[in-house]
Amino acid sequence: MRRKLAAGNWKMNGTAADLTEVKALIAANPTPTVDLLLCPPATLLSRMSDITKDSAIATGGQDCHMNGKGAHTGDISAAMLKDAGATYVILGHSERRADHGETDAIVHAKSEAAISGGLIAVICIGETLDERESGATLGVVETQLSGSVPATATAANTVIAYEPVWAIGTGKIPTLEQIAEVHAHIRTLLVTRFGEEGQGMRVLYGGSVKPSNATEIFAVEDVDGALVGGASLKAADFGPIITALENA
Ligand code: PEP
Repeated sequence: MRRKLAAGNWKMNGTAADLTEVKALIAANPTPTVDLLLCPPATLLSRMSDITKDSAIATGGQDCHMNGKGAHTGDISAAMLKDAGATYVILGHSERRADHGETDAIVHAKSEAAISGGLIAVICIGETLDERESGATLGVVETQLSGSVPATATAANTVIAYEPVWAIGTGKIPTLEQIAEVHAHIRTLLVTRFGEEGQGMRVLYGGSVKPSNATEIFAVEDVDGALVGGASLKAADFGPIITALENA
């Protein structure tokens, strides 16, 4: 039985004033029946972790370097994220793949570093619109999954997020049949590679999840939760998504 996960990715949004949203979320969800995660920008991680430390909300980074330390200006290591209170880290988000040229090999190395550093890696994969329209989705997802997920992945240390690039921040989502098809494919690939561990790995859907569509998305087989961008910034939006997941 996989425990469901509602994860929020604040991306490059939020300053100290926005931490009131976290307090509101904690107050509204004292004993959630699903796992909760917020990944703020690095500048807020420590302060957010202080606020969430006695709550059910975990915190995470949005990226980490593949090396433990060294001359990498602007980068953050897995150990630094952990030191700031994180227990998770998002890796291979399509915005990092596009903006920073992150390849599957880089995401693989970062995921290995995160896992060996004691973090849970949330590894993102997903097709572009061109790839979707040319019928390449399942092949793309397969290549990204095998190239990005390290051999050290287990059900406890790895979460997969299926995020169609064209659905992120656009308000568009795939049909429920398309979501079901990709999640079933990912599950098959995980079980083929990792056996029983692959059966236990959570697979999240991400891309324009909102209070208005969360219930139907969470009813899709093999969807173990969501990675939520824009709608995770406000407790008034993320709260109903959490409730929808609890009721799924
Ligand atoms: C994301 O950033 O991972 C994401 C899914 O964003 P949004 O929910 O805003 O589409």
